[in-house]
Amino acid sequence: MRPFHYERAATPAAAVKMAGTTPMSPDQPSVATPVQYLAGGTNLLDMMKIDVMRPDRVVDINAIAETRHGGIEVSDDGMWLGALARMAEVAEHADVKHRFPVIAQSLTLAASQQLRNMASIGGNVLQRTRCPYYRDTSYAECNKRDPGSGCAALGGFNRMHAVLGTSKACIATYPGDFAQALIALDARVEITGAHGHRSMAFAELHRRPDDEPHMETRLAPGELITAFTIAALPWARRSKYLKIRDRESYEFALASAAVALDMDGDIVREARIALGGVATVPWRASAAEHEIQGKRLDERALAAAAEAAFADARVFEHNAFKIALGKRTLTRALRETAAMET
Ligand SMILES: Cc1cc2nc3c(=O)[nH]c(=O)nc-3n(C[C@H](O)[C@H](O)[C@H](O)COP(=O)(O)OP(=O)(O)OC[C@H]3O[C@@H](n4cnc5c(N)ncnc54)[C@H](O)[C@@H]3O)c2cc1C
Ligand code: SF4
Repeated sequence: MRPFHYERAATPAAAVKMAGTTPMSPDQPSVATPVQYLAGGTNLLDMMKIDVMRPDRVVDINAIAETRHGGIEVSDDGMWLGALARMAEVAEHADVKHRFPVIAQSLTLAASQQLRNMASIGGNVLQRTRCPYYRDTSYAECNKRDPGSGCAALGGFNRMHAVLGTSKACIATYPGDFAQALIALDARVEITGAHGHRSMAFAELHRRPDDEPHMETRLAPGELITAFTIAALPWARRSKYLKIRDRESYEFALASAAVALDMDGDIVREARIALGGVATVPWRASAAEHEIQGKRLDERALAAAAEAAFADARVFEHNAFKIALGKRTLTRALRETAAMET
């Protein structure tokens, strides 16, 4: 690992100030950013050890957890999750499991218990892709790591790569699980930066690769995620995360679906669907939602939703199976969510 300067911040404002002391250009690849925040370190340190990320300075934000930002607050109005809450704490919280099951399930099905004990939910949503060509610097072609260099995955082994939201420049899959659950519950993300505090719909946080795959989110350089907020919407309790993978534990998704339904008998009043494992970003499947809204959730509606979800999919040499798998994952998740007792 290359040498770096280590600093520790006790408040969000102090962290932003420390990050802001090194000039950063807004169009730098996120891997080239000279300052990185350190939360659980389970992704950042991996990336530094394999020499993909090379920060000059690392700002440790863990002490901020002591000032409420490692907290979980649930009320009748909704939920506030501090960005430094650990994945395991959120996954195992009784109110989260009961009132926002898709959130607890998405975290329980991610990584391993040891990683979940260490990793923060803020770091989770910003984890980098597992594309092997991105993670192996002996491959010169990777537009995400080195803009303009090409994409080794296009002509390489692309079984794990995305079929939705791809571009000519990058087909890497967004690897996380929790982000899809946040989208299914219309979550918002709270952000602190050099110009103060702002919040945005979580679904807007990640950017599709287009011709700038190195620009992964809409965070400005040095901005810190402080929290996630989720309103107690009518579809929060009837929500579910289904994850299909090569093995049943400690593995990333081949296809996943986060589903939340507000039902009037067997009619869908309102639906939220987000897909994982198949797309370049946490993927809101709005067309699929539209197919079932106001309808009885019968086999015909399920099939229409699945078709709509993958209508714009584009396959590569080794990942055509993801369309059939993604459709089956979605229809099963919808069926099981509709059948939930709430
Ligand atoms: C073997 C293995 C298997 C895994 N399997 C899964 C899986 O199945 N599903 C899944 O979802 N994840 C999986 N993960 C990923 C794991 O969940 C992430 O590594 C973890 O969530 C990252 O959180 P962290 O707190 O350790 O982040 P860090 O490593 O500390 O940070 C990650 C990035 O986020 C930035 N960052 C962190 N916090 C903030 C903040 N508050 N504001 C702004 N920037 C911030 C850091 O600067 C860094 O760039 C796996 C990881 C490993 C190693
Ligand atoms: S898919 Fe994206 S991350 Fe993977 S090699 Fe191509 S440009 Fe790099």
